[in-house]
Amino acid sequence: MRIAMISEHASPLAVLGGEDAGGQNTHVAELSAALVAAGHDVRVYTRRDAVDLPVTVPAPDGYDVVHVPAGPAEPVAKDALLPHMAEFGTWLAERWRTGDWQPEVVHAHFWMSGLAALAAGRRTGVPVVQTFHALGTVKRRHQGAQDTSPPGRLGHERQLGRKVARVVAQCQDEVAELARMGVPRSRMTVIPSGVNLSTFAPLGPAVERDGDRPRILTVGRLVERKGFEDVIRAIAGVPDAECVVVGGPPAGLLETDPYALRLRALAESCGVADRVKLIGAVPREEMGRWYRSADALVAAPWYEPFGLTPLEAMACGVPVIGSAVGGLIDTVVDGRTGDLVPPRDPRALGAAIRRLLGNRIRRFAYATAAVERARGCYSWSTTADRLAEVYGEVAAVRRPTRVVA
Ligand code: UDP
Repeated sequence: MRIAMISEHASPLAVLGGEDAGGQNTHVAELSAALVAAGHDVRVYTRRDAVDLPVTVPAPDGYDVVHVPAGPAEPVAKDALLPHMAEFGTWLAERWRTGDWQPEVVHAHFWMSGLAALAAGRRTGVPVVQTFHALGTVKRRHQGAQDTSPPGRLGHERQLGRKVARVVAQCQDEVAELARMGVPRSRMTVIPSGVNLSTFAPLGPAVERDGDRPRILTVGRLVERKGFEDVIRAIAGVPDAECVVVGGPPAGLLETDPYALRLRALAESCGVADRVKLIGAVPREEMGRWYRSADALVAAPWYEPFGLTPLEAMACGVPVIGSAVGGLIDTVVDGRTGDLVPPRDPRALGAAIRRLLGNRIRRFAYATAAVERARGCYSWSTTADRLAEVYGEVAAVRRPTRVVA
């Protein structure tokens, strides 16, 4: 099939770890690669955020990345992109109407991409599949006044849920949220993200360790809701273990990053500054070396739409201690591939870490089961096949085209 992916702020070519570059970038890159490997023709449309970007860049995995002129050709924070989505949609519609390539289906990632995709879809008759990756209701609930999303986000997401041809949710928790928003269950299909099983495998090089200290690893964009503060507090109750934090700005910029400085100050006040190491952003191809160096991955988000890092760790044979939220409830099998604890509870987290680090047999059993689960249930080729089925279903239903002068 000819498939258009829309990922307005998250380019599959971006460097990861920064504030707005994480799971969605990985998801779009890996999914597009897997669809190409299955014989599909894929183009990814993302916003042009630098003047020197060519319109089309062929990605090494066989799909094209198309840079859409919408708003200034410079980095713009994700939450400030809404005013440019109409321009994005108009450009897509023009391109598909007048160019030599028209998609049979468009898959939008994140709500703002959905708005552009729906606008283009209405004018060209191309059906829209929507994956939200994150929901405004959840963000508002957890971040309250600190939520910088545009004011109309919740309404837009509700409308999108009702207007697109299909919503692809990534976990059961998201289905429940969407249902509460009024999205009909008949429009939803649950298809989880996958994990790259060649990049993330138990065998392979690992980053060197600091002597005999047990190592816990925690990974993600350096934002508050990822729960790094809870991990540092928890580590204070785990004698001797070191805590390695991967993600955030590149290593050279950590010294001036306000959140990195806050984490350092917290480690200092908890008396664990010598056991907490901030590494900064690590290239995607090096992530496996970091996972393999750890005794356990700790993922302590307040909330998590899906959470690729626990799955990547599992595929590397690393047990996960995680918050019982969002996608982790589906991916981590409590008591079999890892332990789930309540979110925002450093005491419970510390107890779980202590228990696991103190029990080699349990770690081995979790590691074995984790690899098996990642391989058996979460390959990108399975995700791509299941999505291709959905694409085929929605493309088979002809949609009326609204003629715009
Ligand atoms: N990642 C990376 N380098 C880093 C930090 C993270 O390549 O320094 C990758 C990580 O391997 C994962 C993604 O970024 O593929 C983060 O996805 P996740 O779903 O865990 O979190 P999100 O960023 O979507 O909130």
